[in-house]
Order: sequence, then structure tokens, then C-alpha cells
Amino acid sequence: ASSGEPLLNVRGLTKRFGGNVAVDEVEFSLAPGEMLALIGPNGAGKSTTFNMLGGQLKADGGSVLFDGTELLGRPSGAMASMGIGRTFQISTLFASMRVVENVQIALMASQGRIWNAWKAAADIGREAALELLDQVGMRDQADLPCSQLAYGDVKRVELAVSLAARPRLLLMDEPTAGMAPSERAGLMALVRRLARERDMAVLFTEHSMDVVFGYADRIVVLSRGRLIAQGDAQAIQSHAQVQAVYFGT
Ligand code: ADP
Ligand code: MG
Repeated sequence: ASSGEPLLNVRGLTKRFGGNVAVDEVEFSLAPGEMLALIGPNGAGKSTTFNMLGGQLKADGGSVLFDGTELLGRPSGAMASMGIGRTFQISTLFASMRVVENVQIALMASQGRIWNAWKAAADIGREAALELLDQVGMRDQADLPCSQLAYGDVKRVELAVSLAARPRLLLMDEPTAGMAPSERAGLMALVRRLARERDMAVLFTEHSMDVVFGYADRIVVLSRGRLIAQGDAQAIQSHAQVQAVYFGT
């Protein structure tokens, strides 16, 4: 993006399911290197918004410009080559393969190359994969099968897999779900450091308010499909309508 222009610019984004407007004219933008949290009570429209941005769900209206290019209408398979990565709540690693092999596969896939057993035996891409694992603090466990990893470490390896395609925007759907509170801070501190180092924007949904207020530069609050507030942690914490939605005050 040229200076001053957002990397991601969401305008009038809308999705209806029958008579139910799940996402109603939502608008926000995201700058390179920025951490943006999308929050709201159950049913607010977070996942629907995410799925439209990721191309898994067709929007009924609006526009999503990524570096000036319209994303809506593109298949989810086109996103990675455009520079958009995504992590999922359910693990996408090959459990019986080694940690480093999962990253090697991701590196090859991002280059449009085919992985096979011969390439594994020849260690093609191993050094680059180890470098990525180093960045997420998992180099020491590179040769373990993924099935032997602790849950928090699986998340770190998935992050390395997402980084293989060098995304400029990373979409993370509840990245800390199922993690112990102590593990959450470590993962989010790592994500934020990588965002800053790589000038990579991160859009994430999150239930834990500690994580949201601790790691988001900016927060967008949805309620019943509508954007009701956006701002930094301080602005959101003192926002009357947000308090009403979350605490019924
Ligand atoms: P959140 O992720 O914030 O909990 P969702 O985006 O999952 O919210 O849901 C927003 C609204 O859209 C809810 O009212 C939900 O029932 C509805 N909804 C979500 N997905 C579908 C679907 N595939 N079919 C019909 N209604 C849906
Ligand atoms: Mg959801």
C-alpha cells in the first residue's frame, strides 16, 4: 500500500442468512504491522466476517480492498498467493510427520512445488524450515512428530506454517482457544513481535479480554452484526455500549 493507505479496507460488508442480517454494513481498516481484534458476544458476526474475508463465504454486499485489490468474489484458494494467511481453530498439521517436515511442505506449497518422499529424504527446504521454526521458538523440537507436541507448541508450529507463504495479512480465528492462560500471553507476544518485524497485519478474534486488551493495537466490537465501537483498549473498556453488551450494565 502507498503511504497512508490501509492494507485492508472493509466497507459496507454485509451477509444475510434468510431474514437474519449476520453482518450489517461493517466497516474497518487495517494498517501494515497492526494487530486488530474483532470481538463481540456469541452470534455477533465475527466468524461470518472472517469467512467472508477468507473467501470461505460469499458476501451479499460491500467491498474488501486488500492493497487496493477487491477480495470479494475470489475463491479462498486465491488468498494465499495474494499474501493473506489464515490459521484455523482445528489443527491443520500432519500429526504423524515431523515438525520440520510440516514446515517444509508449507514452504514448498507456497512456491507451487510438489512435495514427495524423495524430497523429504533429500532434506530439501530443511534449512529454511528450521529458520522459520527458530522464529517461533520451536527449532529444538524440529524432529519430533507433531503428535508428541504440547498443545501450545502445536500453535507455534501452525504459526510457522502460516508464515511460510510470507503473508502480509494473517487472519487468526481464536488463536488462543484451549490454551492455558500462561501459554496465551506467550503466543500473543510472539505473534505481535512477528507482526512488527515483518510489517504483517494481524486480524484476530478472541474471547479472552486479557488477550484482547493486552495485545490488540485496535479493537472492533460487533453486536448482532453491527459494528458498535472501535478504538484502543482504553477507549473500548470505557465505552458505554460495549459495557452494556458485555456486562448488561
Ligand atoms: P460469532 O462468530 O460472532 O459468534 P457468527 O458469525 O457465527 O457469530 O454468527 C452470526 C449470526 O449469523 C448468528 O445469528 C448465527 O446464527 C448466524 N449464522 C452464522 N452462520 C450461519 C449459517 N451458515 N446459516 C445460517 N445462519 C448462520
Ligand atoms: Mg464464531
